[in-house]
Amino acid sequence: MRIEIGPKDIQKRQVVIVRRDNFEKTFTKDKDTVKEIVKFLDEIQKTLFNKAKKFLNEHITTVKTFDEFKKTLEKKGGFLRACHCLEKGCEEKIKTETGATIRMIPLKKENSFSNCIHCGKKAKEVVYFAKAY
Ligand SMILES: [Zn+2]
Repeated sequence: MRIEIGPKDIQKRQVVIVRRDNFEKTFTKDKDTVKEIVKFLDEIQKTLFNKAKKFLNEHITTVKTFDEFKKTLEKKGGFLRACHCLEKGCEEKIKTETGATIRMIPLKKENSFSNCIHCGKKAKEVVYFAKAY
């Protein structure tokens, strides 16, 4: 946020708070300024967090087959959520073929997985693949 204090504001004992996320201007009396700043910082934090969370969720695609994996990676990119066996050789083959590697194995374990997206062996985790750019 930006805080403006001009000669007229000093006369009126006020400050102008301009939010930099939506450019909304608010005039506050000096005694309310700190309270208003805290309120706006909280609102800005929530707005930025929700925007980032929405962006992240829009860029995660669950894929069930390796064909779907390759097509999604090529057309949409982002994170591919898929079952994987966690064998290094299998991940290497995926990397060689598509350029994508495992970027994240969630701490919160899922138990709704079946077979590895690439080799077909029993999967050990649901992981997130992505391509490094
Ligand atoms: Zn595998």
